[in-house]
Amino acid sequence: MAAYTERMSSKTDPRAEAFRLLPSVEEVLHDAALVEPAARVPRELWVGFVRDVLEAWRGEIKAGTLDATRLGHQLARGELAAALSERVERERRAGIVRVVNATGVVLHTGLGRAPVHVEAAEAMARAASSYCVLEVDRESGERNQRDERLSALLQRLTGAEAGIVVNNNAAAVYLLLNTFLERGRRDEVIVSRGELVEIGGSFRVPDVMERAGVVLREVGTTNRTRIEDYRSAIGERTALLMKVHTSNFRVQGFTEEVEPRALAELGARAKLPTAFDLGSGLLEGDGLEPLPASMREEPRVRDAVESGVDVVTFSGDKLLGGPQSGLLVGKRATITALRRNPVYRALRQDKATIAGLERTLELYLAGRGDEIPSRAMLRASAAEMETRARELASRLASVADCAIEVVAEQSQPGSGSAPGVFLPTFALRVTHARASAAQLALALRRGEPPVFARVQDGAVLLDPRTLLAGDAELLERALRAAVV
Ligand SMILES: *Cc1c(COP(=O)(O)O)cnc(C)c1O
Repeated sequence: MAAYTERMSSKTDPRAEAFRLLPSVEEVLHDAALVEPAARVPRELWVGFVRDVLEAWRGEIKAGTLDATRLGHQLARGELAAALSERVERERRAGIVRVVNATGVVLHTGLGRAPVHVEAAEAMARAASSYCVLEVDRESGERNQRDERLSALLQRLTGAEAGIVVNNNAAAVYLLLNTFLERGRRDEVIVSRGELVEIGGSFRVPDVMERAGVVLREVGTTNRTRIEDYRSAIGERTALLMKVHTSNFRVQGFTEEVEPRALAELGARAKLPTAFDLGSGLLEGDGLEPLPASMREEPRVRDAVESGVDVVTFSGDKLLGGPQSGLLVGKRATITALRRNPVYRALRQDKATIAGLERTLELYLAGRGDEIPSRAMLRASAAEMETRARELASRLASVADCAIEVVAEQSQPGSGSAPGVFLPTFALRVTHARASAAQLALALRRGEPPVFARVQDGAVLLDPRTLLAGDAELLERALRAAVV
């Protein structure tokens, strides 16, 4: 009975016709026309792609959105091969690949923040591909600390007594809180309500604090916090007094925030540790040309250390321009306490990153900090950018179907460094005769290497500020390939 009804329905159900047309996995695997795309990925993956694509079409047939006639057309037009090739291409594009950043956002988190100096990159590659002196003293052969040299470099650069490095600044904050906390006894951290920041993606300072096991005592109001607010909140359970730089927003108007010096003095009197989370680690002075005036409000690491707070935390891959890392600098006893915390073991850095950071800090000490790519990008003046934009425009002028215009625009420091700061720039406004701005931007992202640009007012904006050496040529090739 069941078999009979099934045969009956297969006669009347128009979907059965489409199912019969759909090739089997085996047939596709033996299709001579697909040898080329199949050879480009491991066999297992290819079989998976074939199954997925056929499954998707089977689903459409079941849902009644794909009938035999249309399926016949699709197969005749080679859409199965096209779908499979697309999967192969997507596979080959996946993962971390080099991109051309034409967004003008210097510390673009999605694109890997700071590109490190070529000498730092070389140091990283060497450390990664070989054995290296990591935790051993060359003279005595005894075990030592992996970041001893880094700590010495940080002392010289920031004036702090010592330093320590962890995976990123979020880890630095976590280690700091976890170290000063005594569960159930002293577990309160006093912090200004106006400084409880949320930084891109999912990093919220309050969440990290709570996960670290601390109880937040928020003091003051969103726009005004005074040292008296901190003072009156101190109690038996207070573990730490903390200040957080509001990296990615700016409270304007009637505002008041606590000076780090006042916080350090209060901490010293109350015998409580004090911390300042800077976010972006700006190192100025020592032979460096200053950053643009609009960015000078960013707190400098050296000033934060001089204020007398016990520990200052900042990212290694924001304004510093090094590899991803979180740096903690401050009083020797505090840094020692952080190092002794067993949690440090879970947050410490690997040899390649430490090597890259050492080289980056050495460049600062050698007065070569301005060679660091992100710093150079941040410092480029509007006049310089206009010259570069015009050069790029003439390079791209012959690309078919594209209209290009040089316009005054604004770049951004990015990554919550210098909120509300824009850097005057000149960008290329590109429109295509047939493709929309979104289509052109997508084609560029799919290129080899991919190009990321901004889409604004119906055009693709290419900002030369964030182009690295050799990128203009890659960009030209990408644009020509994108608009065939
Ligand atoms: C960016 C930032 C962090 C997080 O730093 P990561 O290096 O991204 O982990 C923490 N605090 C402040 C104030 C920041 O600006």
